[in-house]
Amino acid sequence: MMKDTKQIPYKIYLEESEMPKQWYNVRADMKNKPAPLLNPGTLEPMTFDELRGVFCDELVRQELDDTTPFFDIPQEIQDFYKMYRPSPLVRAYCLEEALQTPARIYYKFEGNNTSGSHKLNSAIAQAYYAKNQGLKGVTTETGAGQWGTALSMACAYLGLDCQVYMVKCSYEQKPFRREVMRTYGANVTPSPSETTNVGRRILAEHPGTSGSLGCAISEAVEAALSQDGYRYVLGSVLSQVLLHQSIIGLETKAALDKYGITPDIIIGCAGGGSNLGGLISPFMGEKLRGEKDYQIIAVEPASCPSLTRGTYAYDFCDTGMVCPLAKMYTLGSGFIPSPNHAGGLRYHGMSSVLSQLYDDKLMEAVSIEQTAVFEAATRFARIEGILPAPESSHAIKAAMDEAIKCRESGEEKTIVFGLTGTGYFDMTAYGKFNNGEMTDYIPTDEDLAEGFAGLPAV
Ligand SMILES: *Cc1c(COP(=O)(O)O)cnc(C)c1O
Repeated sequence: MMKDTKQIPYKIYLEESEMPKQWYNVRADMKNKPAPLLNPGTLEPMTFDELRGVFCDELVRQELDDTTPFFDIPQEIQDFYKMYRPSPLVRAYCLEEALQTPARIYYKFEGNNTSGSHKLNSAIAQAYYAKNQGLKGVTTETGAGQWGTALSMACAYLGLDCQVYMVKCSYEQKPFRREVMRTYGANVTPSPSETTNVGRRILAEHPGTSGSLGCAISEAVEAALSQDGYRYVLGSVLSQVLLHQSIIGLETKAALDKYGITPDIIIGCAGGGSNLGGLISPFMGEKLRGEKDYQIIAVEPASCPSLTRGTYAYDFCDTGMVCPLAKMYTLGSGFIPSPNHAGGLRYHGMSSVLSQLYDDKLMEAVSIEQTAVFEAATRFARIEGILPAPESSHAIKAAMDEAIKCRESGEEKTIVFGLTGTGYFDMTAYGKFNNGEMTDYIPTDEDLAEGFAGLPAV
């Protein structure tokens, strides 16, 4: 049944000694740099001194550095990575067979750790720098709960306090995620909450709101600023997070190079852009330097289509408007996506790095409706065994579509996609799908216009 197994194993594992020792900063190779973060008061680029009140110093340095191509991964972070890395690059032989496609499909599986997603790659880095600076703890937000779980694990390992503002609807609907975080010692507060000024303000304006990521970010930032020895950390969107996630792409490239494989198409789901940015970074670097060409596809939910239907503009990163302004493809910070089940893809904006690359036509984007995503997820689970996260299943669906195109054209393309995590905590969503109760929500142009109307005038 399995073709070519002799040449290429089902799973390519690097040796621990082959793991990357440096992260790669794709911004160093970008001719058009991503636009800087702006101070919302002065509209001037944020300085090191302005940012260091919110983020720890080393992370601010990474955030502001558009020119250094490689950053050494501190030994302690390399050691932690070894607890769950290198992650396998899997040749999806069974899926190829089921789709009857001449395409070769590979996926980089990031779900083999307790947090169940790639987010641990940046959580440990951010917690490490906070610890190294002598801080007491960190605050953050979490939507679906993957980021909060990852950060809780990293903080437990390093002995740092971890305060998580969890979007209220997830706090109520995902009690197991909440309890995993608490088991790792984190303090979890449903957001909006009465514990911050911005939370109280949002509650007064929208009584009964079930919260949003943008609102939880505002609360977490306020909590960091109002406690001594605390900083805020963010699980996606920021350039520092893409830098840490480059480990995904660097490992993928090392594994492919070992067998002389060159991908034609690289696919990843895109919420804030961190896994996709990390997966593509070394390949995008080659593309930017004119060494190779790849087709790169970002996949987003049709219910939160920041790249495919958003606008490229400066916007607030959070609902409470306490964060710097970032230039990105955005639906507007006031846009509240309909309650789709890929919680990790519900952010209104996209990483400034990916936004610039997309605007420069160096990558493409597609959007997919959630029933089609769950059809692909279910099919994939039955064929390849892994029960994928709904977020990851956006990439699965797009990869399957590309493989089917190859069947029709007869092309033997090599497709690589990022399988960012597992879906064990998403069984309510799978249940809805299995019962035939899942629906698709696609915002109308009028819905989007409301979000755009709230963009700041910059
Ligand atoms: C958070 C998350 C995503 C989306 O976040 P990005 O920053 O866009 O990578 C995708 N998949 C999983 C499993 C996640 O937890």
